[in-house]
Amino acid sequence: MAVYLCHEQPDLHEHDADVLDARPGRVVLDRSALHPGGGGQVNDVGWIEHAGGVVPITGVETVDGTTWHLLGDDDELSGTVSVRVDAEHRSQVAQLHTDSHILNAMVFERFPGTLVTGAQINADGTGRMDFDLSAVDNDVLRALDADVNAVIGRGLEVRSTYADAGDAATTSGLVRSLSVAPPPTPDGRLRLIDIDSIDRQACGGTHLSNTAQSAPFRITKVENKGKRNRRIRFQLD
Ligand SMILES: [Zn+2]
Repeated sequence: MAVYLCHEQPDLHEHDADVLDARPGRVVLDRSALHPGGGGQVNDVGWIEHAGGVVPITGVETVDGTTWHLLGDDDELSGTVSVRVDAEHRSQVAQLHTDSHILNAMVFERFPGTLVTGAQINADGTGRMDFDLSAVDNDVLRALDADVNAVIGRGLEVRSTYADAGDAATTSGLVRSLSVAPPPTPDGRLRLIDIDSIDRQACGGTHLSNTAQSAPFRITKVENKGKRNRRIRFQLD
């Protein structure tokens, strides 16, 4: 995981950038505040303003270490452009993503040692988390949205910090996920997301800075996925 501009400056939604490479409908920029997606989180979208007008950024794709921004038309860009992040989309994803950390914490509290086996935050305002859980009544899991909403209501601070990847790997509960933990940065650090007093874990996504910024959270469905896996589907209310 590189250190993303959106990690360093989470509130940066608009900035200039130079075009490093371009094809019709796709462009490489020298800097971008858009989150490229990953670890189950959908990428940011936005717009690029260039000499010829404004074109939507519909996707982000990393090929052989190069990050391409996919454009809404076949323009071939050059020179200096202005990048704007779709703040509404970013906010929705950050709400769902932060809420998924809270959900994870609530599951971990009720069923200590539970591992996350998958997670996904979608562009349509829905998400899911899969847990390695057996012999638990699905109604108990479905009722956890009340606990998540209680945490949202407490207005807890959400901080991002970095830890040495070697230390983090040996700290119980810190790298809780089997499949969604991000790789360390090139200098061996792991980005940690710390929700005051309830959750601390490695994550490379975008988050709120306070739980109170989330809309109410609703669990829509709990499914059995194989013998041990439970899939919890959720959305914002
Ligand atoms: Zn996260």
